Amino acid sequence: MADKITAKKIAKFIKPYGVTKGKKFHLKDFDPGDTGGYSSEEKPRAKALLQQGIAMLSDLQERLYAQDQWGVLLIFQAMDAAGKDGAIKHVMSGVNPQGCQIYSFKGPSPEDLDHDFLWRTTRCLPERGRIGIFNRSYYEEVLVVRVHPELLEKQKLPPELVSKNIWEERYEDINNFERYLSRNGYVIRKFFLHLSNKEQKKRFLSRLDEPEKNWKFSSADARERQRWDDYMEAYDGMIRQTATPHAPWHIVPADNKWFSRLVVAAVIVDALQELDLQFPKLDAEKRKDLQAARQMLESGKPR
Ligand code: ATP
Ligand code: MG
Repeated sequence: MADKITAKKIAKFIKPYGVTKGKKFHLKDFDPGDTGGYSSEEKPRAKALLQQGIAMLSDLQERLYAQDQWGVLLIFQAMDAAGKDGAIKHVMSGVNPQGCQIYSFKGPSPEDLDHDFLWRTTRCLPERGRIGIFNRSYYEEVLVVRVHPELLEKQKLPPELVSKNIWEERYEDINNFERYLSRNGYVIRKFFLHLSNKEQKKRFLSRLDEPEKNWKFSSADARERQRWDDYMEAYDGMIRQTATPHAPWHIVPADNKWFSRLVVAAVIVDALQELDLQFPKLDAEKRKDLQAARQMLESGKPR
């Protein structure tokens, strides 16, 4: 028999992966190979749960859209080949595309570089009633830009504004921005798909070995991999400084895709369930309108 999912069970399941206060956070305390107690024989059970989660998400998203008050922003960050694209594709597969807006952020354009660092992502924020997904985000500004200081030099900042505190200042700006969004009715959930170095190597090699996966590989990926420890340090600092109760990070174990998708789905369902989304209730006048429309339809007479 399929497991029955309750809101309480979901909250309990995701708890170990959530970070709402960064103070004591250390990435090394999280295992990329964690499968939440599911053995690999139990994979079919986990997959059945994911299907239930996807169905719940579909129902919640319909209410979110109809109510048209709250907006949801989901941010995905990860090292290459951690499975961001696949997680987004699977978890959102039941969602009405009209209610969902997805943006992928690559290196900045000259137009982007002519603006402040939050500009390009701000333009892509979801409308109320929608789920917005950022596949990479403004967090790259304290990750890749920190690992490669030459990128910061291209940002045309007045030199007197670039001090050794720049990363701390960016964390602060991001925290203020997310607080602002949450005060405006935007629910934020941030995912770090936590892949091990070993598993990344395995996935890269399979991209090289299998012709239909070749297109996914770029030599830049192998170059970035050489900076693995620097990236981990940047992620560690970023999560410590930007995990808050209104915009928590979730450290999603990513070595097993079937498990990471389950965690992502559960976090989103949990966030939407907390909102107590309801279809709008009609007032007396609107109900009278509907009654009149029914009479017109049933009488079947053209005007
Ligand atoms: P995939 O590899 O799965 O197709 P991806 O998200 O890695 O997806 P790529 O085109 O490979 O997409 O990489 C995008 C690159 O753009 C990443 O290396 C990322 O670090 C970089 N990037 C994103 N935002 C910025 C930014 N603000 N400044 C500089 N580089 C950025
Ligand atoms: Mg890439």
